[in-house]
Amino acid sequence: MQLFEHAANLHMHTPYSDGEAYHAQIAQAALAAGLDLVCVTDHNVWVQGPERYYAEGERRVLLLVGEELHDAARQPQKNHLLVYNHSRELAPLAAQPQALIDAVRETGGLAFLAHPCDAAVPLIDYEAIDWVTWEVTGYTGLEIWNYMSDWARLLTTKAAALRYSLNPDLGVTGPAAETLARWDALTAAGQRVVGIGNSDAHATVYQKWGVSRCLFPYEFLFRQVNTHLLTREPLTGDAGQDRDRLMAALGAGHCFIGYDGIAPTRGFRFSASGDHGSLTMGDETTNRGGLTLQLTAPQPATLRLLRDGREVARKDGQSLTQVLPAGETGAFRAEAYLSYKGRLRGWIYSNPIYVRP
Ligand SMILES: [Zn+2]
Ligand SMILES: [Zn+2]
Repeated sequence: MQLFEHAANLHMHTPYSDGEAYHAQIAQAALAAGLDLVCVTDHNVWVQGPERYYAEGERRVLLLVGEELHDAARQPQKNHLLVYNHSRELAPLAAQPQALIDAVRETGGLAFLAHPCDAAVPLIDYEAIDWVTWEVTGYTGLEIWNYMSDWARLLTTKAAALRYSLNPDLGVTGPAAETLARWDALTAAGQRVVGIGNSDAHATVYQKWGVSRCLFPYEFLFRQVNTHLLTREPLTGDAGQDRDRLMAALGAGHCFIGYDGIAPTRGFRFSASGDHGSLTMGDETTNRGGLTLQLTAPQPATLRLLRDGREVARKDGQSLTQVLPAGETGAFRAEAYLSYKGRLRGWIYSNPIYVRP
């Protein structure tokens, strides 16, 4: 099965909320970083107008506008929801997460719980903006890896804060275990939950301990954790048509999360063949006659296959094949780890292939 891959970053801010650069500058940073799609998600404001392709030479990037919605009056802040592909301002519903998610779906949009297990950072007086209303239903997925949120967990002491501010890659080892456990629990219970990975770029200038510096420019962050979308048809160059294809792939979970900061993740694939032919991440199948799961990485790595969150196979190499006997079911997802600067780092996290009874 031929698949077309599109590197995307789906969470960032402009001065319409609390970011530093406007859409055209963000598109330039995305072009420089080699992304194919960015989605701007300002807080509680749907900015219409800048959606289009931006090009430089041979390269082009599609810029779309979503939103990050939350109840601005709630203190401390909780329940940030990323919304894509919606067609009207939904901020007035932000105080009611279930009504908001229902409205997103009614307008044909996608809803993702942002940084769902965000943690407090006492060192900088930061309170956790995690998701607390877990009884909601109908959302598309979870932001499994939010680079800024997960990086902030490293700031446990002043020394660690300095070290990981200057060299974030020394500290970053993957998404929070708590978030992965949440994801696995939901999919093991039968729910479809699309996992995505993003930057949450703001390009904020930090002033702390006499240092004034933008630690995380957009371009730097667009080279770190991304969501790689897979489409069965190539993009056309028509912004509207391509938007539909990319959003359909996102909604279906045809994607993986790649930590491109340590090595390019382009080319990773996780597939299954069996009852329903050839399938990719996000697809569902039954298993009447046995199923072959195949995982291929762009370079040798430590590969893991998980079923409902539990490891069923592990191998060092560039590919891993696992044959499932007929009747075996579960939510199967793949991970790849890479040794980088002396530590094993989470590198790639696939979306599940759902094998149903
Ligand atoms: Zn947020
Ligand atoms: Zn954000």
